[in-house]
Formats: sequence, C-alpha cells, structure tokens
Amino acid sequence: MTTVERILPTDEAHDLLALATELADRELAPRVADFENRSEFPREVIRTLGRAGLLGLPYPEEYGGAAQPYEVYLQVLEILASRWLAVAEAVSVHTLSCYPVATFGSESLRAMLPEMLGGDLLGAYCLSEPQGGSDAAALTTRARRDGDDFVISGSKAWITHAASADFYNVFCRTGGAGPTGISCLLADSGTPGIVPQTAERTMGLRSSPVAQIAFDEARVPVDRIVGDEGAGFRIAMTALDAGRLGIAACAVGLAQAALDYAVGYAREREQFGRSIIDFQGLGFLLADMATQVSAARALTLAAARLRDRGRPYSTEAAKAKLFATDMAMRVTTDAVQILGGAGYVADHQVERFMREAKVLQIVEGTNQIQRMVISRSLAR
Ligand SMILES: Cc1cc2nc3c(=O)[nH]c(=O)nc-3n(C[C@H](O)[C@H](O)[C@H](O)COP(=O)(O)OP(=O)(O)OC[C@H]3O[C@@H](n4cnc5c(N)ncnc54)[C@H](O)[C@@H]3O)c2cc1C
Repeated sequence: MTTVERILPTDEAHDLLALATELADRELAPRVADFENRSEFPREVIRTLGRAGLLGLPYPEEYGGAAQPYEVYLQVLEILASRWLAVAEAVSVHTLSCYPVATFGSESLRAMLPEMLGGDLLGAYCLSEPQGGSDAAALTTRARRDGDDFVISGSKAWITHAASADFYNVFCRTGGAGPTGISCLLADSGTPGIVPQTAERTMGLRSSPVAQIAFDEARVPVDRIVGDEGAGFRIAMTALDAGRLGIAACAVGLAQAALDYAVGYAREREQFGRSIIDFQGLGFLLADMATQVSAARALTLAAARLRDRGRPYSTEAAKAKLFATDMAMRVTTDAVQILGGAGYVADHQVERFMREAKVLQIVEGTNQIQRMVISRSLAR
C-alpha cells in the first residue's frame, strides 16, 4: 500500500483515523468479497461502526456525535471506502439521512439522534422517484393533511437501504407545484402503507440494497415534519451539498485502493524479463493515476474546510464530486488495464472497483447536474 501523507487538525483526528484503519482491516476487508458475492447487506458491520463512534462524526456531542470537522469525517470515509465501498456509501447515506433532523428537526425529533448516530437506527433518504431523479423539484409523491396525520401516497425510486432502513426522510408534496410545495417527513419503517419493493440487481455495490418504495396512504403524524412545511426542497439540497462531499471521499478511497492494487501487481508481474512497472508506458500511467487521486483528495478536503469554517461551499462540493468521481472511473479502468487479462476476472479486486466506480458518477446528482451547478455559479 502506498503511504498517504495527511495533515490532520488534532491528535484526536489522528486517533480516529487509526481506529478507522484498524476497523477497516479487521471488520471490512475480510468480509467484502463474500457479502458482495451474496448481495447481502452487512447490517452488523454498520452497527459495529456505530458502536465505535464512526456514524456520528460530524454531529454535536450532545446528540451522541463526535463534533468532528467535516475534513476529518471525510478522511475516515475514504479509509472505509478503500476496503469496502458499499459500507462507506452506507455510512455516507446514513450521515446524509441524519442531517435533516440534526439541522432542521424539532427537539422531539432530535431526541432520536443518539439512536441514529449510534447505529441502532439506520436511515434512508427518499428523494428520487421513478419519473424524476435529476429534476427533484418536480417530484409527485404527495402528503395530504388528515387530522393529526399526513397521509403519503406515491412512489420513490433507487432508495439506498430500502427494506433495511429503520427511518425514512420522505420528500413529498404538501403544497402546490415547484420547490416550495415540498416538505420533509420523517417516517418509521414498518408504518402501514410503506412497502419497500424487491431490491434492484445492480452492476456493483451489490451488498448495498437499493429499491423502490411504494407509499400507499401511509400515515405519518404531523409532528414528524422536519423543519417548516414547504422547506423540504431547501433541506434536501442543503443535505446534498454535504452528501456530495461524502461521495467524493468515497471516490478517493476507491481510487486509492485501485492504485495500490495496480502498483503492487505491476511491481510483481514480469514481462520481457523485467517488472512491468519499469516500462515507462505503465510507470507514467501509474504516475498519472497517483496524481489524480491526490488532486481529488485535495479538492474534496478544500471544500470540506470551507464548510467547516461556515463559508459557502455548494459549488466547491459540486466540483469535488464531479472531479473525484470522474477520476475514480478513470483510475479504476486504468487499474484493470495494468493487470491485463487478470484485471478482467473476479479473482482480482480491480474488476469490482471498476464496476463500483460507475455509480459514483450517478448518485446524489449525476455529474451532468454537478456541471449545471458549477456553470450556474459562473453565470451569476
Ligand atoms: C445505486 C443507486 C443508489 C441511489 N440511492 C439513492 C438514494 O438513496 N436516495 C435517492 O433519493 N436517490 C438515490 N439514487 C438515485 C440517483 O440520485 C438518481 O439516479 C440520479 O439523481 C439520476 O436520476 P435518474 O436516474 O432519474 O436519471 P435522469 O434524471 O432521468 O437522467 C438521465 C440522464 O439525463 C441527464 N440529465 C438530466 N437532466 C439533465 C440536464 N438538465 N442537463 C444535462 N443532462 C441532464 C442525467 O445526467 C442522466 O445522464 C440512487 C441511484 C443509484 C443508481
């Protein structure tokens, strides 16, 4: 494994990264192949991370979080992603799913945070729909008021954790058309009328369950609204700014793992009587890969530091997500090339890395949408 030089803000951050590395080596690395092959969600592994304090890193201590800067949380995520992307993505999605309650929720909703951040309750973020992913403001899942309840009807698509989740952030229409008609409701799994569908058969991240969820007159008490009525779209977009940095960190970790694997193989493999890493054609390819991973890490952490200082960071988060995930796709593809035929078979992890990289260019706003965010900021 190549050494990653890190500048961390505190000794506590050093300890956290050491803990994450130890857990990743002990709990993640030995299990990933088996769980991916069986498409099984590692719920117990997530619980273990929760007990170790790794699920609530950026949240306040009074709610069971660790009050860590985002730049520290992202580097923990990167380490987890380098061993098992689906677990890192689960941590990222769960962290995203806790954000609305932690930031906009009433005190009674925040009382659930210790269980959420400790890993006993797993979250899902229900924004996308079968008819609309990129154009989220056009969502059609509706919640009508009936006495002390909202009654939700509609359908959500591509929901990570789906049937495995304990709570859902449901973005739904409580008012008229457009973004200001959308609210965020916190629903428990097991609520009658909330029915996760069969999990999708995905290209990669097979241990991460993704499915549609049907809402058929599902009743959620009115005090389960997160923030004000009509504030849902703003909550969803603010959460995604932070979530995109999580996806960028996942991409950096995945690409680092692909780079490390390719370097190890290229040092060992001999052709024409010498290690293939000594051929300039491959040595330069690896040099470009290493440079791209470092650049993506730097861009991601620079955006995180803006967030940590309370500065606007939405455009920088879009740049980081765009650059890091495109980079991960390139680097994992090049890693397969470096292994030659061996890269194309499941015996070597790079085959999985390449399949997994693709989804990072799609989730939490496709990379076309990131370009839209960035170009709009240039036009303003
Ligand atoms: C494995 C996985 C997990 C996911 N997890 C979640 C989750 O937990 N919660 C959740 O809410 N969603 C989740 N998603 C959904 C994901 O966020 C959407 O797939 C994504 O936002 C794109 O939406 P779409 O699939 O409907 O594509 P579409 O919006 O139909 O887009 C199709 C194509 O058109 C392009 N496009 C659309 N609009 C424009 C434009 N204005 N300019 C240029 N190009 C454009 C897109 O980039 C894309 O290439 C997940 C998806 C996957 C695959």
